[in-house]
Amino acid sequence: MENKYRKDFPFFKAIDENNSKHNNGLIYFDTAATAQRPYLVLDAMSHFYATANANPLRGLYSLSERATFAYEDARSTVAKFINANDNSEIIFTRNTTESLNLIAYSYGVNNLKEGDEICISIMEHHSNIIPWQMVCGFTGAKLVYLECDKQTGEISDEEISKKITKKTKIVSCVHVSNVLGITNPIKKLSKAAHDVGAIMIVDGAQSSPHFKIDVQDLDADFFALSGHKLCGPMGIGALYGKKELLESMPPFLRGGEMIEYVTRETATWAEVPHKFEAGTVSAGDAVGMAAAMRYLNNVGFDKIQEHDLILTKRLMDGMKSIPHVKFVGSDDPSKRCGIVTFTIDGVHPHDIASLLSEEKIAIRAGHHCAQPLQQYLQINASARASLYFYNTEAEIDIFLDKLSQLRKWSGYKD
Ligand code: PLP
Repeated sequence: MENKYRKDFPFFKAIDENNSKHNNGLIYFDTAATAQRPYLVLDAMSHFYATANANPLRGLYSLSERATFAYEDARSTVAKFINANDNSEIIFTRNTTESLNLIAYSYGVNNLKEGDEICISIMEHHSNIIPWQMVCGFTGAKLVYLECDKQTGEISDEEISKKITKKTKIVSCVHVSNVLGITNPIKKLSKAAHDVGAIMIVDGAQSSPHFKIDVQDLDADFFALSGHKLCGPMGIGALYGKKELLESMPPFLRGGEMIEYVTRETATWAEVPHKFEAGTVSAGDAVGMAAAMRYLNNVGFDKIQEHDLILTKRLMDGMKSIPHVKFVGSDDPSKRCGIVTFTIDGVHPHDIASLLSEEKIAIRAGHHCAQPLQQYLQINASARASLYFYNTEAEIDIFLDKLSQLRKWSGYKD
């Protein structure tokens, strides 16, 4: 089946036309780490720097106004992309990690106290664990983990009602796990959080590239995403926050452009979102991320999900027939969001990735920044193939062929 999207990407176009000096023939199965970027994103960024490059939000001349317009237009695209109620609910950050740190430093440290609890899941990325460990260290609050079923990755209703209690002040959960690929029941978690007066934070790093996000439907108080995971540039991300919450929070970083008025001794803050965007902003990157979001909308999330499922099913069906391969998490392709994590008996995941790299296949191996999950599942490391709409069935078949030979290459007879 021909993949009509690959020509939109310089990376794949070069490979497919066999004129890639560096990546000739490479099969890229590491989108969960970072996606490839279409021409459209690169063009939008170079257009911004060629035609509107001035420091946004401060100059009074027309070039600076153009830069401001491009930057604020990007904010409006992000707001629409996740169905925020108002553009001012979108804060540009560097990535999901910075978005979560912003909430931890600004909301967490200032609102929690000893005896309070922060509830996260056992499958969180380190970005959604360590900031909360820090808040607990500063405030005396306790970190509580929602555990999942070790086979399926599912978090049960009983677990939710056992762990989210009157002591809970923050619930923060990954939407789609970067290891298990599972989609967590965010609406249930939001309801449980709000029923006890807690706020709900969603780590959308892996969900936002794969399906349509509606922060109002999820009833999330905060939602974090990274541009580079959804075909945008590295170094730009966004944090959605409900306006009344953002207005009640102190700034995270302090400096230029986030102020209303400064005296020798003190300062007052700009309105949201600018209160949270100190210093010169990454306008070119914001423009690039907005172009990526428009591109994904044009591809269509129904198409992306359909393609995810076709590829994931082909991949997992093939892997099921290779002896010694074990999935980490569910063996149901419809529960994986294109993320297939696995081990092979007797072959270290780092060796799996290195051997596949020699065959020009790029996958991720290691702890995937989710060490508490690995400890819970009692595995030291795992390998991960992650797919997107630009991957093909032919690539899956090559991957399966190489995978079936890995044990032999490692010295085993069967
Ligand atoms: N959360 C999840 C689920 C992730 O998969 C990642 C990155 O892989 C992150 C957070 C952190 O994203 P970033 O490195 O873009 O901040």
